[in-house]
Amino acid sequence: MYGKIQEHLAKELANIKEAGLFKAERIIVSPQQAEISLNTGENVLNFCANNYLGLSNHPALIQAAKDALDSHGFGMSSVRFICGTQDLHKTLEKKIAEFFGTEDTILYAAAFDANGGVFEPILTADDAIISDSLNHASIIDGVRLCKAQRFRYQNADMDDLEIQLKKASETARFKIIVTDGVFSMDGNVAPMDKINELAKKYDAMIMVDECHSAGVVGKTGRGVTELFDIRGEVDIITGTLGKAFGGGIGGFTTGKKEIIEMLRQRSRPYLFSNSLPPSIVNAGIAMFDMMAETTELQDKLHENTGYFMEKMKAAGFDIKPSKSAICAVMLYDAKLSQDMATKLLSEGIYVIGFYFPVVPKEQARIRVQLSAGHERAHLDKAIEAFIKVGKELGVI
Ligand SMILES: *Cc1c(COP(=O)(O)O)cnc(C)c1O
Repeated sequence: MYGKIQEHLAKELANIKEAGLFKAERIIVSPQQAEISLNTGENVLNFCANNYLGLSNHPALIQAAKDALDSHGFGMSSVRFICGTQDLHKTLEKKIAEFFGTEDTILYAAAFDANGGVFEPILTADDAIISDSLNHASIIDGVRLCKAQRFRYQNADMDDLEIQLKKASETARFKIIVTDGVFSMDGNVAPMDKINELAKKYDAMIMVDECHSAGVVGKTGRGVTELFDIRGEVDIITGTLGKAFGGGIGGFTTGKKEIIEMLRQRSRPYLFSNSLPPSIVNAGIAMFDMMAETTELQDKLHENTGYFMEKMKAAGFDIKPSKSAICAVMLYDAKLSQDMATKLLSEGIYVIGFYFPVVPKEQARIRVQLSAGHERAHLDKAIEAFIKVGKELGVI
């Protein structure tokens, strides 16, 4: 009988709306790219996609996906270990390992699954997970699915990490420090050099989620292990094909070969969920081939990010320091963040204002995400709109 719960859900939904937390979806009728069309007939510049390298609508990736439809078909109708592994899957796994300088890789349907299935197969109640307080929801879920002891340290706070490592050392057999490479709300990069030092001091493994950092951070976009020059020293890297790497779908875990081998044996989202389709996998291969050939897109992204942040700071905006492609324009006031995003949209700039509970109270902001798909004219138009609206609202 649906009756009672229907009433209950309707009330809950009304509460969400009343609190101003209801998530409505804007409908795009063009491909994902810098200039997008909405179903309202508006054409806007997109500054809120994770399309960091501008690859979401790249002709080489589209062609590779089409080619694989012809050569390898549409779907796999199987998990990997039964009859769902094609040559393409093995090739992509190898290319991801080459990109990160790791030993082996395992693909998942999404990074959410990679994080959800990474802890439970390798750790038990005898072990400890020491996790950054701002880690992604999928890491939190993964930790919950595992019986290991849990320790949490304040975001990027190395003193607190050391305290937690000491505590964990009293009881734990194996320890692992877990962090996002780039935290998506502030755009700050995890202090991997210090994490690495502490990991050595306390005999802990390291896992980094590179979803917002791979393709973006480091001179050639190899992520935080490149930025901090610690390639090969991180035991587990998780990442997504759904952001910088083409924006299709798919996730992966890459790292030490025994760990990857164990995940193939025991990781539940891998064992009990369908294989990635060949079109997606072949586009991934084309993407990593492109990455191996040239750093043109990474260079352009870094140039765009530097240019945008510089101009915004010069205009008087309060910008969070960032080495990523995420630029947090701090407004502090929740309503102001919504008013500003609305006014920017009417100027043709699509950005999102974030406020509590997505970010801490009194820390509302607009998050701008830069892309190699942006041209200088796009950036100038956005900066101009920010200045105009910023003045109207008394922000600058
Ligand atoms: C986006 C994101 C994920 C999830 O990636 P999907 O492949 O979309 O499931 C996981 N971790 C972090 C840090 C992310 O930003």
